[in-house]
Amino acid sequence: MHVFISADMEGVSGVVLEHHVSSEHREYERFRRLMTAEVNAAIEGALDGGADQVTVNDGHGGMANILIEELNPAAVLISGAPKPLGMMEGIGAHVDAVFLIGYHAASGTGAAVMEHTWTGRVFELRLNGRPVGEMELNAALAGAYGVPVVLVTGDRAVTEAAQALPGRVETVAVKEGIGRSAARCLQPRVAHEHIRQAAARALQQHGGVPFVVPPPITLSVTFIRTSCAEMAELIPGSRRVDGRTVEWSGDDMVTVYKVFRAMAALAAQ
Ligand SMILES: [Zn+2]
Repeated sequence: MHVFISADMEGVSGVVLEHHVSSEHREYERFRRLMTAEVNAAIEGALDGGADQVTVNDGHGGMANILIEELNPAAVLISGAPKPLGMMEGIGAHVDAVFLIGYHAASGTGAAVMEHTWTGRVFELRLNGRPVGEMELNAALAGAYGVPVVLVTGDRAVTEAAQALPGRVETVAVKEGIGRSAARCLQPRVAHEHIRQAAARALQQHGGVPFVVPPPITLSVTFIRTSCAEMAELIPGSRRVDGRTVEWSGDDMVTVYKVFRAMAALAAQ
């Protein structure tokens, strides 16, 4: 059984401030170590649950946060950026189950630590009219390969959102947001034990149901500013539906995912 782990940083226990996840800041070294430790807990649980291959993809910021020298040697690490599928590089039909570790809620969610959707310039992202965050978008990409997400960890808000994915998804809320930059956090050793147990359960107790977005798939991105939409609109086939919103439709979720990433990159110009 091949388990793919996509790891983000904002949803790691103890992470509450923007500078905790910024490689420019002195304290970042502490938090990349905590991120690595939560990923290790998920790997240990995957091995307990019967996995014989584990691929970890570093999905935060410059995507080179995880300390490979401290990573469980049973896993292979995909590190660095850019990469074609970004946070989900390494996903494919050869994978049996996906864990999303250290995730955060969608832009606009209340009481959610560092909520956002890909960049601070996306106000709302929708797939076929349904508002989604990175968690759902990445689950939809896995679903396009027939692979289910079976474990989501992060703050309380993202784990509650994960309950709306199809099938039974194991979740671990390692912290509970008080606001965007404050949370009640589990001590890391406690968080690790919860993650390890949930990861094993996720593989042992249920097969998982892929999150498949039926085609035609309409991607709708509302940006925080009209200038972002003006740049996103440069993508061939896109439609400007209002001052801040651009849509794009297609039948293939992998292409839709890449179009969203291209829009986000253009909007950052
Ligand atoms: Zn991140």
